[in-house]
Amino acid sequence: MTLLYEGKAKRLYDTDEPNIVRMEFKDEATAFNAEKKAVFADKGRLNKAVTLALYKMLEKEGVRTHFYADQDDVNMLVRRVEIVQIELVVRNYVAGSLQKRTGLPEGHKLRQPIVETYYKDDALGDPIINDDHIRELELATPDELAHMREAGLEVNRIMTGFFEKAGMKLVDFKLEYGRLLPDKTEVVLADEISPDTCRLWDLETGEKMDKDRFRQDLGQVMEKYAEVLTRVENAIGS
Ligand code: UDP
Repeated sequence: MTLLYEGKAKRLYDTDEPNIVRMEFKDEATAFNAEKKAVFADKGRLNKAVTLALYKMLEKEGVRTHFYADQDDVNMLVRRVEIVQIELVVRNYVAGSLQKRTGLPEGHKLRQPIVETYYKDDALGDPIINDDHIRELELATPDELAHMREAGLEVNRIMTGFFEKAGMKLVDFKLEYGRLLPDKTEVVLADEISPDTCRLWDLETGEKMDKDRFRQDLGQVMEKYAEVLTRVENAIGS
């Protein structure tokens, strides 16, 4: 089947069905705008399984996603979307670039969630942008942007409670949205939600269980991803 798109962590392929594409999760990992690269055996399987479990859980809670059907270890079928070129980051605690931008200590609990928007543009290094920049660049309509923020906060409410049940603190995460084809009138959650795109800390010990283990050379990267999957699956079963 034709390769439609290859990104840093995923490939998209055509299928026999119009407007359904196959999303393959790769073992490659990148950080710091692809300056740091590595391959982790089994990462594709683990991230696909976590994304699948979270998409199913979110759909049950009434969140619209582009998920269509599970396929195999590293592939799922998703409805075709036109990706909105904005990364929506939702934060509950200070970490990463928010720590750098504010000087607040890592782990500081935010009084209320912070939502940020970044321009999905590798050449520019995904800069943070505001609503005025989004309007000027015509990245989303005001209605689409309002929906993305609201849906992002709803996903945060649902996932914060879910991860707590799974013994983890949801520090922050990144979401992407897409306009469903062929109409492009409905904007739904797209891409992945995994330890690559969320910061997750053990509730008891504060241990990092996400991509920061790779970014910060903490070791045991896939061991912790596998632990996240086990806990997510147990929390779903309970
Ligand atoms: N994130 C992501 N993809 C990106 C940038 C950030 O998935 O291209 C996630 C990241 O894993 C974290 C959250 O978004 O959970 C906030 O990231 P931050 O802005 O702190 O940037 P970083 O420290 O990762 O550079």
